[in-house]
Amino acid sequence: MADTMVKTRWVYAFGGGSADGDASMKNLLGGKGANLAEMSSLGLPVPPGFTITTEACNHYYDNGQTYPPNLKDQVAEGLRTVEKITGKAFGDASNPLLVSVRSGARASMPGMMDTVLNLGLNDETVEGLAKLSGDRRFAFDSYRRFIQMYSNVVLDLDHHMFEEILDDHKDRLDIHVDTGLSAEHWEAVVADYKRAVEDERGAPFPQDPNEQLWGAVGAVFASWMNDRAKFYRRMHDIPESWGTAVNIQSMVFGNMGDGSATGVAFTRNPSTGDNRLYGEFLINAQGEDVVAGIRTPQPLTKIAREEMGDKNPSMEEALPEVFAQFKDVVGKLERHYRDMQDIEFTVEQGRLYMLQTRNGKRTAKAALKVAVDLATEGLITKEEAVMRVEPASLDQLLHPTIDPSSPRDVIATGLPASPGAATGKVVFTAEEAEKLGGSGEAVILVREETSPEDIRGMDAARGIVTARGGMTSHAAVVARGMGRPCVSGAGEIHIDGRAGEFRARGEVIRAYDVITIDGSTGQVMKGSVKMIEPELSGDFGTLMGWADQVRRLKVRANAETALDAETARGFGAEGIGLCRTEHMFFDPARIAAVREMILADDVAGRKAALAKILPMQRKDFVELFKIMEGLPVTIRLLDPPLHEFLPHTEEDVQAVAQATGLDAAKLMRRAAEMHEVNPMLGHRGCRLGVSYPEIYEMQVRAIIEAACEVAAEGRPAPIPEIMHPLVAKGEEMKFLRQLTDRTAKEVLAEKGVTIQYMVGTMVELPRAAIRAGDLAEHAEFFSFGTNDLTQTTFGISRDDSGRFLNAYIEKGIFDKDPFVSLDQEGVGDLIKIAAERGRAVRPDVKLGICGEHGGDPASIEFCEKVGLDYVSCSPYRVPIARLAAAQAAIGEREKDR
Ligand code: ADP
Ligand code: MG
Ligand code: MG
Repeated sequence: MADTMVKTRWVYAFGGGSADGDASMKNLLGGKGANLAEMSSLGLPVPPGFTITTEACNHYYDNGQTYPPNLKDQVAEGLRTVEKITGKAFGDASNPLLVSVRSGARASMPGMMDTVLNLGLNDETVEGLAKLSGDRRFAFDSYRRFIQMYSNVVLDLDHHMFEEILDDHKDRLDIHVDTGLSAEHWEAVVADYKRAVEDERGAPFPQDPNEQLWGAVGAVFASWMNDRAKFYRRMHDIPESWGTAVNIQSMVFGNMGDGSATGVAFTRNPSTGDNRLYGEFLINAQGEDVVAGIRTPQPLTKIAREEMGDKNPSMEEALPEVFAQFKDVVGKLERHYRDMQDIEFTVEQGRLYMLQTRNGKRTAKAALKVAVDLATEGLITKEEAVMRVEPASLDQLLHPTIDPSSPRDVIATGLPASPGAATGKVVFTAEEAEKLGGSGEAVILVREETSPEDIRGMDAARGIVTARGGMTSHAAVVARGMGRPCVSGAGEIHIDGRAGEFRARGEVIRAYDVITIDGSTGQVMKGSVKMIEPELSGDFGTLMGWADQVRRLKVRANAETALDAETARGFGAEGIGLCRTEHMFFDPARIAAVREMILADDVAGRKAALAKILPMQRKDFVELFKIMEGLPVTIRLLDPPLHEFLPHTEEDVQAVAQATGLDAAKLMRRAAEMHEVNPMLGHRGCRLGVSYPEIYEMQVRAIIEAACEVAAEGRPAPIPEIMHPLVAKGEEMKFLRQLTDRTAKEVLAEKGVTIQYMVGTMVELPRAAIRAGDLAEHAEFFSFGTNDLTQTTFGISRDDSGRFLNAYIEKGIFDKDPFVSLDQEGVGDLIKIAAERGRAVRPDVKLGICGEHGGDPASIEFCEKVGLDYVSCSPYRVPIARLAAAQAAIGEREKDR
């Protein structure tokens, strides 16, 4: 019998003070469903409903878009339970149960999927609703909303069609706001809506509630595969295999008059992290109205209203009793989840209903403050606080804001929707933002309001301005998630899309004019404005301190200039992991001597030229050593092919010849002689040191002399780590080690000083990794040069990869660009092999990474697993690396438990 077989459970009920699921079941029920269940069990007022699992969605896609057997029965059963709790019946003309159909994936994907409200309404039930509520106007307002949403989401009809019909009615009646329409007006609108639907699809608007329900369920499943959802998933690394759940929930009505309302709230301020209830609501409105930016909502609290200078009452003032209850519930939720919550609620005729809660998205600044505050309040531990902040998001804090002392030519003020400042050229469409922004132009996207279709354009823009919408409008929420500065609801801005311009305070700003926005104050300014560097103390300093306490990996920076080295130390770098000496050679004051060296006919000539370079190199190193105050400094000897230093076009040759007195013909000849078919694999790296030892000797001498000089001044003794690039064989390393030691010994003997130094190599060739044991005989450290190691492992040139890598990512052959995030399988295996074989020969061989990957959190996690000693990254990424290293250490420890 079917009853005795194990049946898959596709439906989980919630409401009436209990639930089948709970907050831990996000994978199965989606975030929304799991939290609705949890809130029900906590005894909070949640309209009853049920969740169709993500497994049903996966089943749907794995089986040619068909529903699992039993689903229909289980849904019917779920409906019966809801009917019992509410005392209403689905499709019943006199006492109709209406439901919302809501998508909800494991990770929240705001605005990605569509919700249908008021489902179950038809020509009969609308009459029942009218009688039951005693409010015919409300009933028909709900019906027209339903027709519009359902037609858009399920029947795929354009919503403009409905807006036009409504506008026609309003024009004819000379009424300007929706609230001015009466019951009869809405009835007429509904009749026109239905006619329009029938004209468009050749069939009437579905009247059967069950047909409506399954249509909506199908649409939620379908929306999992729409373009916006796919794009969002790719952007946030959400696998397609997670699927979405569907929540079917009895309706509550915020549009039942002035004792009703709907709103959204954050338990703390999601922009600043301030521990104050924060949010917006609308009296006599339904769910989507608040986020859609159609009416501008009001603040929840009196304080916030006063601060904004708003005249209309806050929720605290308009609905004081419900507000008190709400505050209580919200506090309970935050303590229960131990994190800042993002909440949706509705008040139906004075009764509060909770519709959603989730951990709130927040800016990096707020994430820091909330994490530090929660730990200080004792709600979470310091380690949990460290885990709460997304390392990459620190980027937002490490970049400039507007200098408060510089004059601002403000042309409009809106809401401070997402902090940070940005300057760029005005564009009016997401497509253009994508096009220009993609080609590296700084653009500011200026829109009436944004919608999910604009998401790529928003991503490509430096900042976003909208004329309408509140702090929780689509633009605001998405911009905060992306870390883009955003000003929303700048009502003074009047956009004329056709003319390609906007007007504000009498100014006309045309497309491509430059504006500046300050997402922290809501100001929009003409032209560009002076920016200042970020503040690194306060919560940032506190959290970084906690991170440093748990981290095992050291963090160094890649730096060769004094400025970079100072920035790096300011950000907490514990040394330099890569100083590229060739950058010092390109200095205009030196390149003449470098060219003279390249043109020299013999060793003596080269040595003479090198003698000119030596004091300059020494000076560079002295400066770096002083800044680093005894921290290790890894200096890589000359790496690029020498022809990179020569002029190439005839014009350049002439100019160089004239400026330096070098012979033009000889310059040309030498450049031609040195031409290489494949310079990346050519005469470069330590091959230069092997063929022209005097170059490396000069560099080693400059390093050791500089170290002696700094030590002699009584400063902390520098720890130079002399690094030979592109070594492939043990014999090469042996030769270079001898060269280095011989030269160093000479210098130290001359100066009569002892200085500790190390000699090592950059591992950037597969052979070097595989034969790491041979290298370790002579090398005291390895630094994984993962930029070149990735190039040489894949045989892909990074500079040319742009042409085809996207196709690989789109086709799922690569997950991510291996030049951005370490290919842990291939390149990572080489690192593991090198670490193992190196340590087998020299147990204390020092291991680090200095490629771009040294600042990528996922790659850093890998480095922790393999047990490297340090990572090195660009100065601005040092804090990101410190935090990522701490999280990796905590993650590894958790695993061992
Ligand atoms: P999103 O994930 O885009 O926020 P939701 O499913 O949460 O979509 O719903 C959209 C809006 O509809 C929200 O404002 C929500 O509060 C409201 N809403 C959803 N279900 C109901 C319901 N049963 N009764 C009243 N409002 C609802
Ligand atoms: Mg929601
Ligand atoms: Mg290299």
